[in-house]
Amino acid sequence: MADCQETLKELERFIDAELAHFEAEVVVSHLKTCTDCQGAFEFHTELRQAIRVKATRDELPDGFAERLMQCFGDNVYSPD
Ligand SMILES: [Zn+2]
Repeated sequence: MADCQETLKELERFIDAELAHFEAEVVVSHLKTCTDCQGAFEFHTELRQAIRVKATRDELPDGFAERLMQCFGDNVYSPD
């Protein structure tokens, strides 16, 4: 049975699916019984998704372009 310290240490690799099957099972069985580690797992998962979205979608956040226009005027997007 893994303890919290061990589980948290493996959490990032678990989320990245880098653990061997038996190692992942140890993490999963611990997560089922430990709300502290569940919270950490959810936090890391959301963090990872946020980073992935940011890295793969090279888009400005909603309204950001409009705010730029208001600050700098329409010329900011017309280099001519
Ligand atoms: Zn734990």
